[in-house]
Amino acid sequence: MILLNPGPVSLSPRVRAALSGPDLCHREPEYGALQERVRQGLLQVYSLTNPQWCPVLLTSSGTGALEAMITSLVPREGQLLVLENGVYGERITELARLHGIFCVPLSLAWGEAIETERVADLLAAHPEVRHVAVVHHETTTGRLNDLEGLLRLCEERGARLLLDAVSSFGGEPIPFDSPALAACAATANKCLHGAPGLAFVLVRTEVLRTGVRPARSLYLDLLNAAEHQSRGETAFTPGIPALYALSEALCELSEQGGWHARHARYAQLADQVSRGLENLGFVPFLQARSRDEGHAADARGARHSSVVLRSYRLGDLVSYDDLHAGLRKRGFIIYAGQGLLRSQIFRISTMGCISESDIHDLLAGFHRVMSSRRGDAA
Ligand SMILES: *Cc1c(COP(=O)(O)O)cnc(C)c1O
Repeated sequence: MILLNPGPVSLSPRVRAALSGPDLCHREPEYGALQERVRQGLLQVYSLTNPQWCPVLLTSSGTGALEAMITSLVPREGQLLVLENGVYGERITELARLHGIFCVPLSLAWGEAIETERVADLLAAHPEVRHVAVVHHETTTGRLNDLEGLLRLCEERGARLLLDAVSSFGGEPIPFDSPALAACAATANKCLHGAPGLAFVLVRTEVLRTGVRPARSLYLDLLNAAEHQSRGETAFTPGIPALYALSEALCELSEQGGWHARHARYAQLADQVSRGLENLGFVPFLQARSRDEGHAADARGARHSSVVLRSYRLGDLVSYDDLHAGLRKRGFIIYAGQGLLRSQIFRISTMGCISESDIHDLLAGFHRVMSSRRGDAA
């Protein structure tokens, strides 16, 4: 099966092989070396340096890293402005509220652009807000939220930005230079092409020092995890096979030319998919959205979309279930829309070990599904 869902991704043979590394006790020095290799490798993806940035590993899915970031860095009396334009932004508000954090959500339609002026107005209306959370690549629709304007605004207002980079880390530019970017949470099994089970937060060391005490959570306490990891230790039993895989995946990324090269690769595959699907009559969801919003639509809506994932309207061309079943039979897993978009769109991610010829076969699969459907109708 070739996975075109937004994580976990199809692994390369060398990353898969790394999963069966030797048994290891996490209280032995071999473990410390493996953990440190991965921590340094994560910093190197965006040429960050220790001690300015501290990488903190967690054995969890991406949501665990987000929960650790928010609950460890937003103070008890703090208020959090959450910018929501999809499922994942809404989930940040949900998890913060479960921990009793006072949230000020900016609730936008899924896929709508986040306008900096609206964020500025909210920050002006809520001067107690010192933390802003946003999803970089909103995987709900494929929209890549623009961080430059937001970070400039946060800098001006003295606010810290907490970033969900779960589906962009390793594949999209992230402005780590901005002092307002306080932390970013991500996972091994999306753009980094590792196996599921590991997530991490990169946090500015000066921000980590001001973390919440006493902690809100035992397992998801970033300060405790960072303290152990900086000594080559680990607070709890880690997912060692996933660490082996991530270590190999980080080597592979670096040998392939780093995140810039991966970005270019994703863009090339995503364009190949878009051209093929547009020939079949599918309209990219974000292009259609910018028309609804009265903006001039750019070619394929690509300007607003990440290179990692794009979503397409089903229109009346085919039902999602028929499309999914037909492609699955041919060895491809595509991804449904969430919530109300379930009946309106499908999503294709080009992360993972995927070749042009895979995409060629995928498009041939689409042709077959569509023509058998036309045959049925005749
Ligand atoms: C995948 C994803 C998550 C959640 O990750 P899990 O590993 O399923 O917990 C969070 N945010 C974004 C933007 C994602 O794409």
